[in-house]
Amino acid sequence: MKKMIYADNAATTQLDPAALEAMMQWLQDEYGNASQPYSFARAPKKALADSRAVIAECINAKPEEIYFTSGGTESDNWAIKGSAFADPDHRATITSQIEHHAVLHSCAAIERLQYPVAYLPVDECGTVLPETLERYISDQTRLVSIMTANNEIGTIQPIKELAEITHQHGAVFHTDAVQAVGHIKIDVQELGVDMLSASAHKFNGPRGVGFLYIRDDVKLCSFMDGGAQETKMRAGTENTAAIVGMAAALKKNTDALEQNAAHVMALEKLFLSEMDKAGINYIRNGCNTLPGLLSLSFPSHGGETILHRMDLKGICISTGSACNGSSDEISHVLQAIRLSEDYALGTIRISLGKNNTEYELLQIVKELTLLMGNGH
Ligand code: PLP
Repeated sequence: MKKMIYADNAATTQLDPAALEAMMQWLQDEYGNASQPYSFARAPKKALADSRAVIAECINAKPEEIYFTSGGTESDNWAIKGSAFADPDHRATITSQIEHHAVLHSCAAIERLQYPVAYLPVDECGTVLPETLERYISDQTRLVSIMTANNEIGTIQPIKELAEITHQHGAVFHTDAVQAVGHIKIDVQELGVDMLSASAHKFNGPRGVGFLYIRDDVKLCSFMDGGAQETKMRAGTENTAAIVGMAAALKKNTDALEQNAAHVMALEKLFLSEMDKAGINYIRNGCNTLPGLLSLSFPSHGGETILHRMDLKGICISTGSACNGSSDEISHVLQAIRLSEDYALGTIRISLGKNNTEYELLQIVKELTLLMGNGH
């Protein structure tokens, strides 16, 4: 059977074998509930503490500032809702038009409760300009939430500058770093962020687990009510195996950050030069993008058509135009960067990971050429 080519790493990634190996004992033999007082709970309790310390070190935080969650969606919901409800005197939230739905829909939820939210426009690269934030921020602002890097077009935001402006107005800065953690250097001190969301399955960890970094002086309401886990901030029995797997995956990717980035950037370069050689008409969206994330728009073919054709050839990519991977609507991100409709409807996202090879990239170019280039 022909091997599948997986080029949709922004959607999810393959579990790293080191993470799987680290997880096994917690799934099978060491199944104790970390909150129990008996000695059988000692090992899982220590595994959670060790994982917290490993994750904290990877992003230059303190272990007690890392809170385990069920993934990026929960971390974003918590940061936005927990922040809005924490300070009734400063009710306004600012975010951008190109955030993930985990942020946008959380903002819509607080708006329904009469908390005002402003959605910052972006430029044609998908960048939130610091001067735009300057125009919208006020002393009523409680939270500014801007993603580190966009999941559709890959644009990396000027987070440090945006956080600085936020702090000048006494507000709290959150960043959804789900696409960035484990792929580019993230140092919460250097960036000056107060909260940061991450998700393990985007950096070769297991799905359904993530974390929220909350700087120790940030006032935030608890999100899950129940038991006393996570210092009473996020109730629910901890998923020890998943948390251990997340820490192992993050450590491995962080240690190999430059090497992995160089690998995917070399593949990206090869891909783009082969596309140009093939004479295919396309534009690339985004600027200052995440390594290996390619949002490409073709005026001649629909994104859906390209996706299905690639699927028939055993290649997994994503459409860049669909809101949910299955409709023809133009996504909010492509609308926000004001991409014209003919290009927007012909948008695909190819997202490379550390396991991709040159051969795979050449195969993708070959199939794209057969579909739309001079090679048919
Ligand atoms: N935020 C961004 C930028 C994402 O790309 C995603 C997932 O695609 C999420 C949040 C949601 O993360 P999760 O799948 O862990 O809930």
